[in-house]
Amino acid sequence: MIKRICHNHRQLLLLSISYLAQSAFAACNYEVVVIGAGISGIAAAKSLKDSGCNVTVLEGRDRKGGRLWTSTVGTTKIDMGASWIHGIGKGADGLKKWNNKFNPIYQIARDNNIATVSTWEDEDNAEEAFFWWQGGKTSYDISSFTENFEQFFKDRQGSASQTTTLEQLFANYPMTDNQVNRNMKSFAFGYLFGSDYAADPDQISAKYVDTESYFKGAEHIFPDGYVQIPEVLSTGTNIVYERKVVGIDYSGNKVSISTQSGATYECDKVIVTVPLGVLKNNIITFTPALPSGKQSSINSLGAGLMDKLALEFSSVFWDANMDWLDYISDGDSKWVVTLNINKYLQKPILLMFNIGKDALSFASMTDQQVLDSAMATLRIMYPNAPDYVNYKRSNWGQDEFAYQSYTYIKAGATDEDPGNIASNIDKKVYFAGEHTQFDFLGTVHGAYLSGLDAARAISQAWKFKAFASGMISFLMLLTLLF
Ligand SMILES: Cc1cc2nc3c(=O)[nH]c(=O)nc-3n(C[C@H](O)[C@H](O)[C@H](O)COP(=O)(O)OP(=O)(O)OC[C@H]3O[C@@H](n4cnc5c(N)ncnc54)[C@H](O)[C@@H]3O)c2cc1C
Repeated sequence: MIKRICHNHRQLLLLSISYLAQSAFAACNYEVVVIGAGISGIAAAKSLKDSGCNVTVLEGRDRKGGRLWTSTVGTTKIDMGASWIHGIGKGADGLKKWNNKFNPIYQIARDNNIATVSTWEDEDNAEEAFFWWQGGKTSYDISSFTENFEQFFKDRQGSASQTTTLEQLFANYPMTDNQVNRNMKSFAFGYLFGSDYAADPDQISAKYVDTESYFKGAEHIFPDGYVQIPEVLSTGTNIVYERKVVGIDYSGNKVSISTQSGATYECDKVIVTVPLGVLKNNIITFTPALPSGKQSSINSLGAGLMDKLALEFSSVFWDANMDWLDYISDGDSKWVVTLNINKYLQKPILLMFNIGKDALSFASMTDQQVLDSAMATLRIMYPNAPDYVNYKRSNWGQDEFAYQSYTYIKAGATDEDPGNIASNIDKKVYFAGEHTQFDFLGTVHGAYLSGLDAARAISQAWKFKAFASGMISFLMLLTLLF
């Protein structure tokens, strides 16, 4: 009799332990909706799918990739959103987690045999030719000017407060107020800081310039397009296109998502990866409203703007060995930098850039007006420049699924604002995207890692829930024993 009781007890004990173990390792059975099929949304969806969750991605556009937009000029693939893997090497010193690991985007490219091409080992080593508004190349000592400018910044950055703009920091920059110096100063702002932050000196916070982290090593582009990265990551992922999300109601146990098309979706968890520009423009109504701290971080950060114009010509007429053609304009920084695509892809294509208010000034213009301005500038640089044969233009500021290019710390904001946006609400609404982490703000690898972070938080919530329910059953079975 005693033996039999002991035997039953042992069976019950084994049953309880196996129940507990099964609960702890059970595959996730949450219904998760990810809003946005950019790199952050796709990274999150893949990771959650791999841990067993049921994932649906709702994408407003008719394509994946978001700000990874591989288009064509003529027959050549050209990236009109992100171009570069910024640093294919290991994480910079101080980045503990990444000290011995390569840039994750480069790892994905390598693992999937996606070709990349180095543009330069270090941006400072790029070959450049400088042109100015007076016509042709300038004999002005550009490198001395920009070196002094950078040194002036480094000497004073420590005194910048949270609200000091880059322009304010340079208020006492010593120079005679003539046209050359004035134009050089606005060129130096655009050239040294503008393309990193996609913004103007009267907006950028001086305090946070160059304080983000980075990956070391050469900068690479994709001859066949950056979109290959989201393509390989999203194999087998359920993406529903042309589903512009307009409402997220998280007041109940489930999250209810409404779209412009009228279709609605219910889920346990949602990951919102829409760009900062979309959040700033209140395209999605949250019910209840977002917590005030999160909303204030959304308001404080800067949604930077940088636009590209790709021009294809019948043949190369420019300095073929240069990486960059830099233009010192008269009174603004229009067409400040132009990339010589021919050097990497052997195609007669120039990629011309505008930043901040210059980019904004083109946003409402027709293609013809933008092309006229670009060609007029090219003909100041190269008087015999022929007409282009094909073009492609981006207009990220007027794109209803972006309203920006990439995020920067605007004067008044802090390096904690991206993390404030990332924090989840009630373990139901999660956020990811380049704007939700400071370390790699504004980059593809930053966006990718933020997606993995959001997915990890949901997987952990699942594991905790499964373990907790297993533990309750375990304790109940134990009470039967004693
Ligand atoms: C011109 C330009 C140049 C750049 N250059 C570089 C570079 O060289 N290197 C680099 O590392 N980074 C660069 N970046 C930045 C980089 O592209 C971004 O940081 C990154 O792609 C952002 O990914 P994400 O997933 O956060 O956002 P996104 O790619 O914008 O993804 C968000 C997705 O949400 C969708 N969406 C938006 N609103 C809704 C809605 N209401 N309903 C449903 N879906 C919605 C969008 O369509 C999009 O697909 C550049 C960006 C631009 C624009």
